[in-house]
Amino acid sequence: MNEKLSRRDLFQQSAALGVLAVVGASGCSKAQSPGPACSDTSGLAAPDLGVRTALAYAEVSTEPGKSCSLCQQFLPGEPNACGTCKVVRGPINPAGSCKAFAAKST
Ligand code: SF4
Repeated sequence: MNEKLSRRDLFQQSAALGVLAVVGASGCSKAQSPGPACSDTSGLAAPDLGVRTALAYAEVSTEPGKSCSLCQQFLPGEPNACGTCKVVRGPINPAGSCKAFAAKST
């Protein structure tokens, strides 16, 4: 009887560990998002926040080839740091994007 309980306990603990491993792995992937964190808009005035929102600025571009680092409006900062933008105020992630993207001329 005790042996059956022990096997059941072992099975339940293994299942719980599997769930924890999956949750832990997904948490790690979020921590490894590309580039610096450039989402602090606490210093922006309401109109600037409005432009940022209206142009749907996002920290990570969803379209390949349309990231801020490839946009003619982007002004890079230090390596691995946020840059700035001629159109959207506040910190700008080189991997980000918005509706005003304009490819750099080559
Ligand atoms: Fe990024 Fe938009 Fe500024 Fe271009 S205009 S650098 S896509 S925020």
